[in-house]
Amino acid sequence: MHSHTPPACLLGIDVGGTTIGGVAVVTHPDGAVDILATGERPARQGRDALVEDVAAVCDILRDAVDGRAVPRSIGIGTPGKVDVASGNVSDIANLSVDTVALGSDVARRTGLPVQVENDVNAAAIGAARMLGTADAHVVAFLNLGTGLAAGILRDGRLDHGARHTVGEIGHIPVERHRWPCGCGQRGCLETAGSGGAVTRLWPYDSPPMPGLLRAAADARSPRHAEAVDTKRTVVRAICDAIDVLALAVDPDLIIVGGGMARTGQPLLDALRGELHDRASASPFIRSLAIPDHLRLAPDALPLGAIGAALVAP
Ligand SMILES: [Zn+2]
Repeated sequence: MHSHTPPACLLGIDVGGTTIGGVAVVTHPDGAVDILATGERPARQGRDALVEDVAAVCDILRDAVDGRAVPRSIGIGTPGKVDVASGNVSDIANLSVDTVALGSDVARRTGLPVQVENDVNAAAIGAARMLGTADAHVVAFLNLGTGLAAGILRDGRLDHGARHTVGEIGHIPVERHRWPCGCGQRGCLETAGSGGAVTRLWPYDSPPMPGLLRAAADARSPRHAEAVDTKRTVVRAICDAIDVLALAVDPDLIIVGGGMARTGQPLLDALRGELHDRASASPFIRSLAIPDHLRLAPDALPLGAIGAALVAP
């Protein structure tokens, strides 16, 4: 008789601007992922608080799975500039962190191996896995969050490029309004095609995108004309980002995620409408069938934390 050994599980942490969220997952050979436990803490400012809070969420998860599974590793998805080899992170603006040795500090605090990854890349892994995209060789994940960025997966592995800049397409400066961007340039796609941009451009609803699309579709809305104009600006910028991915990466699937993706079908319809218009004018673009490759990320799942768990060593 074998003695009963609990299975190994993976911990995944998603560092957000307001919350540190985490999951404990077990993976199956067929690719399925089961969530055993979730936990979270409010995010605090500063380097020491960040390390403490991440370790505290790991402790919460360990307690939650105690007796059912044995945590084997920790993956962390975080904003900022991530060096995946060292686990060092710099410039986490929302949490007032200049630099932090997040990987080694959390490993020391928890005694588990830690892998740190960019938050959009982690969400890309989580979204691709939870959508069940096993037969897609190249997957692009477009994150419509506070900013605009993408993660690229090739045969399930992240493309990091030479200096972890792959997917920073929100800072391609081609948007016609030439609004200033936090990066110092003007006209970045992020200044029109991100959640942060829509919050700025449509301050009448919260969250803004569903209200913007409703007002643009309703000729009796008192702000109808403004809504039509703003919707066009936002949708064009997002579709420019989609075209960049389609033409530069040629993915099997483009998954749209991030907070704005919770708008759901009305957002997907708006994007597909703009993409169909572009295709109607160009046999070349039409041949790429870009609207057919667009998917919404699965709603109501902590994709960033799940993906972080899956990048762990
Ligand atoms: Zn920029």
